[in-house]
This record gives sequence, C-alpha cells and structure tokens, in this order.
Amino acid sequence: MQNKKLYGGIEAGGTKFVCVVAGGPSHIVDEIRFKTTMPEETLGRAIQFFKPFAASGQIHAIGVGCFGPLDVNPGSPTYGYITATPKTGWSNTNVLGILRGALGIKIAIDTDVNAAGLGEYKWGVSSGHDPSLYLTIGTGIGGGYIKDGRSLIGLLSPEMGHIRIPHNHELDPFVGNCSFHEDCFEGLASGPAIEKRMGMSGAMIPENDPFWNLEADYIASALVNYILTLSPKKIVLGGGVMQREFLFPKIRWRVRELLNGYLTSKSLLEYIEDYIVPPGLGNQSGSLGAIALAMQLNETNNDPRI
Ligand SMILES: [Zn+2]
Repeated sequence: MQNKKLYGGIEAGGTKFVCVVAGGPSHIVDEIRFKTTMPEETLGRAIQFFKPFAASGQIHAIGVGCFGPLDVNPGSPTYGYITATPKTGWSNTNVLGILRGALGIKIAIDTDVNAAGLGEYKWGVSSGHDPSLYLTIGTGIGGGYIKDGRSLIGLLSPEMGHIRIPHNHELDPFVGNCSFHEDCFEGLASGPAIEKRMGMSGAMIPENDPFWNLEADYIASALVNYILTLSPKKIVLGGGVMQREFLFPKIRWRVRELLNGYLTSKSLLEYIEDYIVPPGLGNQSGSLGAIALAMQLNETNNDPRI
C-alpha cells in the first residue's frame, strides 16, 4: 500500500511540547501535547511518541521548532543545543543529538519562530509571499524571516525581539523588563512587560484602555524597522498578546503614520489590512512549521543541517 508521505513535527516550547505526525495541515495522523518539564522526561515523551512511527518507516524525517537560545550553526560543535537558558535544567541540552540518537532518522532543528514562519509560508497566510516575516508577541518576542523558502540564519538566528525602539519615558515611565537591555522591544511590549507595568495580564486589560495605543506604537515602531531593513511582502503577527485582535487596526494605522508616505508600495498604502495579518494556521503555525521543516530536509540531500 502506497501511503502519502508522513513526517514528524515537534513544537518544542518553553511551556509545552506539541508532537505531530502529519503529511500536511489536512492530513494530521496523530498528535500529543504535554507540559515542558525537565529535559530527560520531556524529550523522553517525544521519543516514546515517535518511536513506533520511526521504527516502522512511516515517517521519513522529523522537524523541531525549538525554544531558545538555540545553536543553529551547523558547523558548531554544539549545533542543535539549547545554550544558556534561564529555564531550569535546560541549559546545554543537546536536543538534536538526543532525538537523533534515540530515533535514528533524519532530524532538522530550527528556532520556534523560524519554524512558525515556515509553516505560515508553506500553508498559511504568507503562502506565495517571499520574503515574509513571522513575529510572535507573547511571553517573549521573536521573529522568523523566510527568504527563498528558508528561514534566515546568519552568524546566529536573528533576535528581533531585542531591537531598540523609541521609548518616551514621560509617556511611559516603565523601565522595561528585559534582563539584558531593560527597555528593548521585548522589555517594553511582551506579555510579562505588560503585566508588570499594568499590574494585570494583557488579557484582562479592557479594549478602551489608552495603554493599548502605547502597545500598538511599540509594535508599529518595531515593524517599521523590519519593513525598512528586510522589506517583507507579508507580516504575520502571532503570540498571546496578538490574541487581542483590536490591536491589528491600531498597529496598521500607526505603521502608516510612522512611514509617513516614504514607501509607496500599494501593500502599505492601500492594502495594509492584507499586509499585517494574524496567522492563517491559528495556533498550529509552530507544529505544522516543524512538519514543513522536516519536509524541507527530505527534499535536499546536501543540506548541511542533516
Ligand atoms: Zn532585550
């Protein structure tokens, strides 16, 4: 019997793991979700889940979209390791090596945001738009930039959450909560920054609170920087903070205001509602992105990441 090719995908998040076996968004064969505990237990559960599929040859490769900081340089001796993380027990965990050693099939690893960006590009709202940008604004802030169908990795993986954006201390006296930079983008606009500043989570703050104009301004400031430097053809905003959908029109309006007519693309001037958008795959961008990553690995035999 000739089945459609199946792949494994792991959305390895700091709070939960999602493991899927799928051939694509409309062909999900099995799925399991569990809390991220200590590495041995958590990776052990993922291995247990995939083992029968790998042993029987049902899956050809696994993609992992992993929380970080992650070593994404294939030439590095610690490639595929989570490096120095504040998450207890996970510093210097060889995620890629442990999974490869236990499952014996091809495994690709990338950051969680790069994988989500890839998922949206392959099957979601940025399909056909290359280059495209996926940004998550939640517990942390991070961005995945997809160019020529692949995530951009340079010296390291981009850390788009930690850029500097204008901070008016009179308007917003909050010092910021990034442990490295205080008032970088993440330090000002992530979920924990909102909670620390406002004394309640973003989900509890009413829609008409003027705070949201400030939040939209921070996000728009960052987007303007990405638009001017990376020129994405589509920007996808995911993550917990962006669950508040009323933020989208505020952000779009402010992006146009900050650009002030400098860029003349119709995407910005006339169709910005289709330019800055929520994820097309909902909360599955990450897990399906991991599947897309596995597929990519299977397509190329000379991939340095194998
Ligand atoms: Zn920072």
